[in-house]
Formats: sequence, C-alpha cells, structure tokens
Amino acid sequence: MTTKLIIKAIKTILIATMLSLSMAQATAKGVAHSTADLQRVVDEAYTKYKDLKEGKNADYIPILTTVPSDLFGVVIVTRDGKVYAKGDVDYKFSIQSISKPFTASLVMQQQGPGAIAEKIGVEPTGLPFNSKVALELLEARSVNPSVNAGAIAAVSMVKAESEKDRWKQVLQNLSDFAGRDLKLMDDVYDSEYGTSWGNRAIANLLYNYERLYSEPEEALRVYTRQCSVGVSAKDLGIMGATLANEGVNPITNKRVLATEHVPELLAVMAMTGFYDESGIWQYTSGLPAKTGVGGGIVTVVPGKFAIAAFSPRLNEAGNSIRAMKAIRYISGELGVGLYGANPE
Ligand code: GLN
Repeated sequence: MTTKLIIKAIKTILIATMLSLSMAQATAKGVAHSTADLQRVVDEAYTKYKDLKEGKNADYIPILTTVPSDLFGVVIVTRDGKVYAKGDVDYKFSIQSISKPFTASLVMQQQGPGAIAEKIGVEPTGLPFNSKVALELLEARSVNPSVNAGAIAAVSMVKAESEKDRWKQVLQNLSDFAGRDLKLMDDVYDSEYGTSWGNRAIANLLYNYERLYSEPEEALRVYTRQCSVGVSAKDLGIMGATLANEGVNPITNKRVLATEHVPELLAVMAMTGFYDESGIWQYTSGLPAKTGVGGGIVTVVPGKFAIAAFSPRLNEAGNSIRAMKAIRYISGELGVGLYGANPE
C-alpha cells in the first residue's frame, strides 16, 4: 500500500468515528434527560404561562364554572415513576374526556383493538367533541373513542353483568392507571347528568343506528360517571406514565394494558385526542395526548414519560389554553416530538 492510500484509509476511519460519535450524542439528547432538565422545563413552563388569563371555564356543565380559574399545575412523570411538579398538581378536578382513551383501553383488553376499529371507529371527525352532525354525516356514526359518541359506545362495550358492574370495572380501570383508588365527584355527576340532554340524544341516536351495545340510559349514566371522576394533574401524569411504560403502572407495578395494545391506543389519542384541533396539536407538539373540559391534559412521550397539566380556562374547542401551551413548551424544549424535535 502506498503512503497516500494509508492516509486516505486513516481519514475515512476518523470521519466514520466522528460521525458515529455525533449520532450517539444526538440519540442521547433525545433519550436521556437529566433530573435537572425535567424539573427546569416544568418550572419554566409554569412561570412562562402562570399569569395568562385567556379563555374561560367550561359552563355547559354548571358546576365547572365554580372551579377557581387561576389554578395551574404542570407535571412530568417518568416511566419509572419519578415526579417533577410545579403549581397546583394535587388539586382534584373532574377528569372529563381524559377518561375516554382509558376506557377504550379496557375494551381493547377485553375484546382486542379490532373491536374498537370495527364497532366504534378510529377516524378523526374534524368536528367538536359533542357533535350530533358527525353522527349523521359519517357512516361509522360513533366515529372514534375520543368524541362523546364513541366514548359512550366504548362504555356500552365493556363486558358487564349490570350497570353496577359496568361502573365498577370502569372506575377500577381508571384507578389502576392512576395507581390509587379514584373517587366519583358526586356534585359534578349531579350537575352533568342533570343537564345531559345533548349526550342523551347522542346515546339514543347511536342505539337507533345499532352502534350502541347496551341500554342507552345505562351507557349515558356510566359515561357521565366516568367523566365525573376526580383526579389531580399528578394522577394524570401517572396515568400517562403507565402508557409511556408500555402498560405497566410505575407506582404499583400492575400491568393495566398489554404492551402490544399501547401503540393502537396512542395512535387514537394522536389522531383524535383534541377533536377538531387534533391536527394543529400534532403539528405543534408531535405527541399523543388527551384533553378534558375540566381543564386537564395528559400527553405521552412513548417509552419515556408523561407530561400533564391542569388549568380550567378553555378555548372554543374545549381545550385548556395554559395546559396546551405548557406541554408544547416542554415538548419543544426537550425535543421529544415523535416526528422530530418540534420547536415551540
Ligand atoms: N363529560 C363531558 C361531555 O360529555 C366531556 C367533554 C370533554 O371533556 N370534552 O360533554
């Protein structure tokens, strides 16, 4: 070999080594975040948005207007159960629509993911969560488990002997995700069930189209109860961390969802978790998430951690403004968007 060739070979080896080193660094940046990093972004997100007053509490469920609007909490829970929190992360509020993917996961556990796709659907509607038009326009009727129609259908699909048994299973499943015994907020249930005319119409329409699988009023009552379960932002973080941890609750170590079903559930959350704002949510955060009109949002960074936030003031689509902004900020800062690192 000539000296020239030897030099060329050494150069090639050097370049290859440098490339693989920089790739390893990039991977490390995406995978491992230090304790200090996680607490820093939580603190920053809280400080950045704590004084934001935009939006207003949900008022179509009368009692939700009485929740103090200034409450604000941000939390990250890692797949091994470490908690990084700031603000009102222990305050109990109603879970509302964040219950929906978790009950869909119970149905997946009992009947497999195919049942969700066939008997409910997984397509986004591009319409608000309580749309009755969607039921008439779209052939699947119930359409997806994140909107009210699909969520009421999911409740009706839980294999149960009685209404009591149905509710018991739904509550137990939510509690298993949270790693503690969650409780019904009776005042929220009374307020919502007493004004549930729209959801009652949805349940009856579904039944009419043979897309409801129990007696309509029973499905409506259990659905309204599941929405009235009290959770804190920290609970939501643990529920999300269970999904980040492939279906095993990191606090209790109990398996709640089979590993192979987690991707399907996260896909449903990504496509439909924000209803008619699901596109812009993906565009700006790149993460599966679910919102609720109680002001909570839970977001999952698969295999890593969950980001949850709570703030009662909502935008027109029923999504918490400060919670959305805080989570987007954290996703952007940590570069954990699934399609690549999203800036804020
Ligand atoms: N329980 C609420 C309803 O049925 C849930 C809606 C929501 O959180 N988007 O309207």
